[in-house]
Amino acid sequence: MDSWILKGVKHLVNEPTSVNITSSTQVKIKVTHLMLTDFDDVLYNGGFDVVYPKIPGRAAVGIVMETGDNCYGLEKGTRVYFEPTRACGECLECKSGRPKECTTVESAGKDFDGFMRDFVVCEYNEVAPLPDSVSDFQALCIETIAIAENIYDKLNLSAGQRVAIIGADFSGNIIAQVLQYHKITPIIIDNNAYNLENAKRCGIYYAFAGDDDLENNLNSATSGNLCDAAVYCATSRLPLSLATRLVSNGKTVVISCQSEINATLSARDVLNKNLRVLGVSQAYDYTDTVINMLVHNAVDVDHFAKEILTEYNPAALFAERSATAVKKSKMTILKMVL
Ligand SMILES: [Zn+2]
Repeated sequence: MDSWILKGVKHLVNEPTSVNITSSTQVKIKVTHLMLTDFDDVLYNGGFDVVYPKIPGRAAVGIVMETGDNCYGLEKGTRVYFEPTRACGECLECKSGRPKECTTVESAGKDFDGFMRDFVVCEYNEVAPLPDSVSDFQALCIETIAIAENIYDKLNLSAGQRVAIIGADFSGNIIAQVLQYHKITPIIIDNNAYNLENAKRCGIYYAFAGDDDLENNLNSATSGNLCDAAVYCATSRLPLSLATRLVSNGKTVVISCQSEINATLSARDVLNKNLRVLGVSQAYDYTDTVINMLVHNAVDVDHFAKEILTEYNPAALFAERSATAVKKSKMTILKMVL
């Protein structure tokens, strides 16, 4: 049974293994679909501190094959989403019985093994059952939507306020949609024509290029008041300093990314405008909220171009992704069950 293991930087090998349930609260799951993420690319390229070996893959769904006697809400055949993050169990919050406030949340592929393998045995509460109305692709988007929802919660804005989103690839687009679902007005800024068009297809009204017209465009969209917050997505390739320029005094800049970012923010810009700067890169404990959002069609993911591969060599795929400077605008999904 295939199991792809990262043994070191850019060193991914398949070491077939078999896994079995060893306690009454464990489930055995056949992984059916796995989406390659920016996080996996960073992992493959050695961008995180990782103790090898580790199995990559953090956006995955599967089908329950076998359950222990004490696995509530799951049975053979249940379709499930794998939680990509777990509370550490070690920090003060975890030890005080508040795992939802864990200060060192662990991540699949980095702190514990991810899901790029045929079978996973895990605790029953480390997966979430999926309603029939949530498609496999929607489920693969859960963490990205969860991060967007986490950003919305942290911004604490009210209806009608405006948020600039710098970078409108997959995650920027989803952040815009989630804000719009909550009646916040997103203003997308990106230099990629496909991303701007896709934002419009997803119902985002304001989508501007980061060019010389941006200031005028933004002024007309905000009646000259600038934005109430800005969210910077790392894959945008636009300067981080743009985020501080687009917001008015005393507002918030969120930096959100799961890819490598070497941009710098000027302390002078932050101080001159008395800004609050937040980093949001994960969303522990948001899965149930997001599944409920998907059931209510809060986010439209049908417009994202995707390739579904039934024959693949993950090592070659990662090598190809790290070699191309321009990110593919297509989501890559491995279909692991035929
Ligand atoms: Zn903890």
